[in-house]
Amino acid sequence: MDLAWTPEQLDLHARLREGGAAASDWQTLADLRVMALAAPGEHGGLGQSALNCALALDGLGYGCRDIGLLIAAGAHMWAVGLPLARFGTPEQKAACLPGLSAGRLVGAHAITEAESGSDALALRTVARRKGTTYVLTGRKRFITNAPEADLFLVYANLDSRLGFTGVTTFLVERGQPGVRVEAEQRKMGLNSCHWGQVVLDECVVPEHMRLGAEKQGPAIFSTVMAWERTLLLAPLLGAMERQLEECADRARTRRQFGKRIGSFQSVANRIVDMRLRLETSRGLLRSAAWELDHGPTDGGRQTLSPLPELVKLQVSEAAVATFEDAMQIFGGQGYTQEAGIEERLRDALGTRISSGTSDMQRDVVAAKLGVR
Ligand SMILES: Cc1cc2nc3c(=O)[nH]c(=O)nc-3n(C[C@H](O)[C@H](O)[C@H](O)COP(=O)(O)OP(=O)(O)OC[C@H]3O[C@@H](n4cnc5c(N)ncnc54)[C@H](O)[C@@H]3O)c2cc1C
Repeated sequence: MDLAWTPEQLDLHARLREGGAAASDWQTLADLRVMALAAPGEHGGLGQSALNCALALDGLGYGCRDIGLLIAAGAHMWAVGLPLARFGTPEQKAACLPGLSAGRLVGAHAITEAESGSDALALRTVARRKGTTYVLTGRKRFITNAPEADLFLVYANLDSRLGFTGVTTFLVERGQPGVRVEAEQRKMGLNSCHWGQVVLDECVVPEHMRLGAEKQGPAIFSTVMAWERTLLLAPLLGAMERQLEECADRARTRRQFGKRIGSFQSVANRIVDMRLRLETSRGLLRSAAWELDHGPTDGGRQTLSPLPELVKLQVSEAAVATFEDAMQIFGGQGYTQEAGIEERLRDALGTRISSGTSDMQRDVVAAKLGVR
């Protein structure tokens, strides 16, 4: 692993860091070619490695202040574009990837249901085979991008008696008979990342819109989780870096008891801890991204790497702790809406739940380490 950045990587990082400052909506991100980052070159993408995507999104998170928007774009890229590129037929890729990578089409990943959240594959949505079609029935909850999505990646079971082994993945288009989006309850943060419920009511999906083989749903889901858990929160690194800089400035300029507040060790220590969390998160995320590109770093001793779950756990928890510390450092001003810290904190709290809760990340790591 070479830790020195190439001129191309520096350029990509700088381009998104600067461009991100003006990014205010989906279209601006599309203009910056954010959704094209990892998509294959033959389908309009930039074909960047996972490591380059990590660097680019880190820069973007520094420039762009809208964490919700960046999470919405991440869900679209890692949970829809990526599995399509990996498991799609040539026809599916040609039909969907150019639009998804240009941001003209919006993707949503629909697995969670009222009775299956952490136990995601225990879903009740069924796909009944009928000739050369499948008939899907069920209801999905908390689906990021559902209100705008053109394409839903839906998980359904071919036969509930098969348990998780029957789970199969389908591409469902908006406007298809039998699919509708309903409003979800309002959430506390990530306001630019809209969610909804996806209702499948005898929705007929032709065989050619199945993604992968029958019963390949668990494999597709674990590929999505490896990429999403590694890269979805990369923008939080940049957001934490900017927060750290703002806190250091405040500590150098704000005076109490005739002294700069940074001279009080309790304030300085908070800033040191912010830096420690940022460096730890960044190093871990880049190692995990490198591993996605090159395979396990341990010479193949592990068949299943725990790094994606460790990244998801570390970065989400680090972001919550960092924004909480920032609020304390800014005192009363930190608690105002104008300071923006409370919004970042509300956003970060959501990242501890989406893509698997922190408890579940620990649970999966324990299983991968063979201690559970
Ligand atoms: C902002 C946001 C965006 C989301 N976007 C999507 C999306 O795009 N697509 C999608 O399909 N879903 C999405 N979700 C849903 C998300 O994946 C689930 O909310 C999450 O997996 C938790 O499931 P649950 O809410 O049913 O909680 P539950 O599974 O009911 O968990 C409740 C509590 O029990 C704990 N728990 C459960 N099982 C275990 C265990 N084995 N060990 C230890 N503790 C455990 C959990 O950690 C949690 O504290 C999103 C959620 C959020 C908050």
